Amino acid sequence: MNRPQPRDAFESPRFAQPATFMRLPHATDLTGADVAILGVPFDSGTSYRPGTRLGPREIRSQSSLIRPYSHFQQVAPFDRLTVVDAGDVDASPVNLDIAHRAIESRVGEIAAAGAVPLSVGGDHSISLPALRAVARAHGPLGLVQFDAHVDTWDGDFGSKIFHGSPFYYAATDGAIDPRRFVQVGIRGPMYGSSDFDFHRAHAVTVIDIDEVFRLGLEAVVARIREVIGTSPVYVTFDIDSVDPAFAPGTGTPEVGGLSSWQAQQLVRGLAGLSVVGGDIVEVSPPFDGPGQITSVLASNLLFELLCVVARRRQP
Ligand code: MN
Ligand code: MN
Repeated sequence: MNRPQPRDAFESPRFAQPATFMRLPHATDLTGADVAILGVPFDSGTSYRPGTRLGPREIRSQSSLIRPYSHFQQVAPFDRLTVVDAGDVDASPVNLDIAHRAIESRVGEIAAAGAVPLSVGGDHSISLPALRAVARAHGPLGLVQFDAHVDTWDGDFGSKIFHGSPFYYAATDGAIDPRRFVQVGIRGPMYGSSDFDFHRAHAVTVIDIDEVFRLGLEAVVARIREVIGTSPVYVTFDIDSVDPAFAPGTGTPEVGGLSSWQAQQLVRGLAGLSVVGGDIVEVSPPFDGPGQITSVLASNLLFELLCVVARRRQP
């Protein structure tokens, strides 16, 4: 079977041609697709520094160095899966509700076509319409959230929906099952101990950054797997879970986070879970450091997540 492959780097230089994720074919027709990578250029849900609307374009650009085989996951995802770059959602930059409807609609089309949507944000508010769409296809989802922030506040600035509230509404809407919801990497100064009232009320599991380092990566992975079990799960990776020394290009940086390698290890640890959707969010290229290091990392984490999806599929 001839599955779409990234362009051959020895025939087409990595810096040539319009950028797509990992140099895959751009395809809006989802027939036969196992995975659709979807750009969601949107930052109207941000509360501090903006710029994530420029994330998908830069991550596409920086993904051009990624080679198609993972030695560490022992998988060639493009041989096992039909993966396409489905382009971007044309999300309104001036009306959050209209934008979210467009996101939910496009992610819903991908899920209805039987493909796993992997979205590239965009601020973290985009996970809410994505979760709603994926839950329509698979039922209430488990959720693994890598993040410095809980994002379970119930609203701000008179708007219920912003990038700090997606999981409050995903849980209260029934798109996710809070008992199968685990947050990893939480840290930073908070508003008060009431920030965790939601977790206590809904039995959400939190592995804060101190626990990550105290337990060690293997034990953290084991705990995540225990919470999630074998039912369908969505994986959301907020790049600010990584330390700003490694990922400065984000809107609400928090010191004292994961290293790039630790982030890779944690994503690899999800292999075997029934991942039916995911996203990488909160990459803001205007605040990035030299070498576009945040977008380089985000593109590599997307590759690791793609490999996780591929490992469930027999060769
Ligand atoms: Mn977040
Ligand atoms: Mn965050």
